[in-house]
Amino acid sequence: MDAATITTWMREIDVAMRAERDHLVQLDAAIGDGDHGTNMTRGFEAVVQALEGDGGSPPGKLLILAGRTLVSTVGGASGPLWGSALRSGGRVIGEQATFDGSQLVEVLAAALASVKDLGTAAVGDKTMVDALEPAVDTLRAGLADGADLDQALEDAAVAAEAGMRSTIALQARKGRASYLGERSVGHQDPGATSTALIVRALQKAVTRES
Ligand code: ADP
Ligand code: MG
Repeated sequence: MDAATITTWMREIDVAMRAERDHLVQLDAAIGDGDHGTNMTRGFEAVVQALEGDGGSPPGKLLILAGRTLVSTVGGASGPLWGSALRSGGRVIGEQATFDGSQLVEVLAAALASVKDLGTAAVGDKTMVDALEPAVDTLRAGLADGADLDQALEDAAVAAEAGMRSTIALQARKGRASYLGERSVGHQDPGATSTALIVRALQKAVTRES
């Protein structure tokens, strides 16, 4: 995998966010302030534009540029969280021209660590962590068990989608939805939903590039 993998990943995210914008808005309207779909769409549209203007940076630098772009274009909680996640992930592969599956695990693990560090959320708090952590764990376990990368990423995307659905039954303990207390139960978390889309986009991008 190389810089083109990252560019394709970000393009796939942009396409997915546009397609799911209204759904993400609805989910956030139920337990937040209704801006998640527009936040993510605006952010990843700007990321794709920034990457198009880049003159051949290595993949880690592209992730750092993507993260910086999210921080500067997204006002909601998801901007700084995904922004720091992508910057932390990018720093793992630094100036390398290419990266392999085990390095991809470390990129995603650093992204997850950064989200947890900044947002102080754990699995079960009804946030994006409920989708991202099972994806990272599943990808790591799959590759450790000898699965090929495409299969391990497929399993990771399925795990993220299961994590996303698991948020329906949870009471929010972080972010805006936590202000609702018990009334947040019964609604799928918007950030976990967009995170499942981001992991699915990665699976598509890697399958396409290989
Ligand atoms: P805002 O809540 O500022 O309007 P968004 O609507 O863009 O921002 O994003 C909301 C999503 O951000 C939530 O659904 C949740 O998944 C995620 N989120 C909020 N706070 C945290 C946190 N402290 N840690 C992890 N994720 C969080
Ligand atoms: Mg919101």
